[in-house]
Amino acid sequence: MGNPARESILDALIESTFARHTSDQGGSTADYIPELAKANPDHFGIALATAKGQLHTVGDTQVPFTIQSISKPFTFGLALGIYGPAHTYRHVGAEPTGDAFNAIVLDEDSNKPCNPMVNAGAISMSALVYDEYGEDAFEVIRSTFSSLAARDLEMDESVYRSEKETGHRNRALAYLMRNTNIIGDPVEEKVDLYFRQCSILVTARDLAVMAATLANVGTNPLTGEQIFEPLHVRHILAVMFTCGMYDYAGRWAVDVGVPAKSGVSGGLIAVVNRQMGMGLFSPPLDQRGNSVRSIKACIDLAEELGLHAFEFTNAGSSVLNAYL
Ligand code: GLN
Repeated sequence: MGNPARESILDALIESTFARHTSDQGGSTADYIPELAKANPDHFGIALATAKGQLHTVGDTQVPFTIQSISKPFTFGLALGIYGPAHTYRHVGAEPTGDAFNAIVLDEDSNKPCNPMVNAGAISMSALVYDEYGEDAFEVIRSTFSSLAARDLEMDESVYRSEKETGHRNRALAYLMRNTNIIGDPVEEKVDLYFRQCSILVTARDLAVMAATLANVGTNPLTGEQIFEPLHVRHILAVMFTCGMYDYAGRWAVDVGVPAKSGVSGGLIAVVNRQMGMGLFSPPLDQRGNSVRSIKACIDLAEELGLHAFEFTNAGSSVLNAYL
């Protein structure tokens, strides 16, 4: 058990961070997937799950929303688990693009998508899972995500349909990769699998537990179930660090300094290696598709808890040490 006095410091800290940003009116909800425009812009939640499985939450941490791009690191982990790194990297690179998440860009020499955090690379990873499991692939993804969250997760039918009806850009990326044999047939089924995986419903609390599983090198701290191999977690966190925030990844590395992944429904995960997972949710997004309030909260928490991977003052680390 951690130190109760220090635990309440952590609660007070996330509560004051929440209070500081909850009335921030910056950003707007995604509308290119029509169903997402219906999100309540006032929702805001912060959840922390330590690598020992202790939870701290404030705000709307039980409100369900679709996982969207936060699915990408976990499907990458699934592909690594099925095929191993060497084969997986025949279908995706590990280089940051500095481009938007949905950029129509493949590596010029290899024709591979640049990394598994942008849409092209994520579709390629879903395609690999499909190659192994065919029609059962979605159930494999859903049950793996459920194990990561320590809760049975479901898909949101209306968001799935909305994205399926409007996701022509993602279809274009998939056919571009079909043209160079990065993915094989059946293309439509593989994009469909990607749309379904993005439509799995989670809460900020679920995201914190999923992130804590990465922080705990692949073993869910609540259930003790090992979901990813430690070596594969290293791959996942490395690409999250360099590519997880798209064209904001560099500035994020400076200001927060931990692996992270955002999604267009307003979710965000951040992983403090060996220490804790953070799950945040607030629908209004900035120009790059990242949650405005969630980013501000992470910058503050990183500062106050000394979370940055290259922290030199170690300020606040005694708080986290109470759990370790
Ligand atoms: N499903 C969304 C898309 O493919 C995911 C994008 C995101 O969350 N950044 O466009």
